[in-house]
Amino acid sequence: MSMINGTRLYDHLTRLGRIGFVPKEGTTRLPYTPAYDEGRIYVQQCMEQAGLQTSVDPVGNLIGTLPGQGEIICIGSHIDTVPGGGIYDGTYGVLSGIECVQRLKELGYQNRHPIQVIAFTEEEGNVIGGTFGSKAFTGGEIDEAMRPNLALHGLTMEQVGACRRDLTQYQCYLELHIEQGGVLEAERMQIGVVDGIVGIVRYRMTVSGCANHAGSTPMHLRDDALVKACRIITQLMERTEAASPDMVCTVGTLQVFPGAVNVIPGKVEFIVELRNPTMEPMDQVIDSVLKEHPELVGEEYIRQSPTQCSSKLIKLSETLCRNRGIRFRRMFSGAGHDLMNWGKAVPSMLLFIPSKDGISHSIREYSAPEDLYQGADLLMEMVQALDQEEGKL
Ligand SMILES: [Zn+2]
Repeated sequence: MSMINGTRLYDHLTRLGRIGFVPKEGTTRLPYTPAYDEGRIYVQQCMEQAGLQTSVDPVGNLIGTLPGQGEIICIGSHIDTVPGGGIYDGTYGVLSGIECVQRLKELGYQNRHPIQVIAFTEEEGNVIGGTFGSKAFTGGEIDEAMRPNLALHGLTMEQVGACRRDLTQYQCYLELHIEQGGVLEAERMQIGVVDGIVGIVRYRMTVSGCANHAGSTPMHLRDDALVKACRIITQLMERTEAASPDMVCTVGTLQVFPGAVNVIPGKVEFIVELRNPTMEPMDQVIDSVLKEHPELVGEEYIRQSPTQCSSKLIKLSETLCRNRGIRFRRMFSGAGHDLMNWGKAVPSMLLFIPSKDGISHSIREYSAPEDLYQGADLLMEMVQALDQEEGKL
């Protein structure tokens, strides 16, 4: 028996999921479009029905507040989608937060701390840049790449600056999200207690060889850049696997020059991306391959440190799971979330529920109702526990 009102949560999820939905394609709610605005109005109504006082900041973050004394307990996630996305990614965390507040009020619970539920805008990064809304809210750095996109949507840096909140007023940040991977389902776990979000490095790699005639150059006289690139990529994968079971390596783009069927490749460019809970092992993999191959030139262009969840909140999550008999496991998140912008300044916690077949960013995204309710119950218990805390965590 769940504590939250599962039927109501499910109803909100499916109703919001229909806003921007196209059959066979999925749900598309890109920020600064009519579909997004309609979705946000829907969520704002849900917040008001739950007794939250709402406001929208200049970049479009929707904030619902239940007044109280002292530091704010914040529950957040996003309500934008990728093009042709699912109905759970982001929205589940926001609507669960609203449901927790509504249920607590119905049960006559008197909150001590203020509780805030926030629907951040533009987490997916298809319009301005990844986690833009929560970046603005937390005063995170707005990357150069985002600036031209701001102007396209009539936004100024002044407006972005006006969104910034004083994070010292926050006790904690909680985010409940679908896993977007298949680990929990494969291991029959109900909850993922997340240690943090992995760091990322991306390199632009160039492998040089010598372009030449594909017919008249015998194999032993060739200097084929693509053959060399293949060996390098295989090595990258092998060294990633050897380095850590948590590390992942992806080469998702590769260009061959000059790119003709009858010319031996003279140059290959590809991008390698590594993700891992810590930075050093990734640097080691890259360095070892660069050292070994003088024909390879690498230029790092993205370096994003990992985010750690609060050890106190991890412990609390584990205790609450044990008390409820929930099957859980600790894990790292390979995907980015709004929590990345909070983790540095405010004790933060990310919780996952299983995703069917590990699929997300797709019309096929699905999480079972019992898992949805279980996660929201856990969130509600967590809010109650944190509400009893005095002072800083
Ligand atoms: Zn998300």
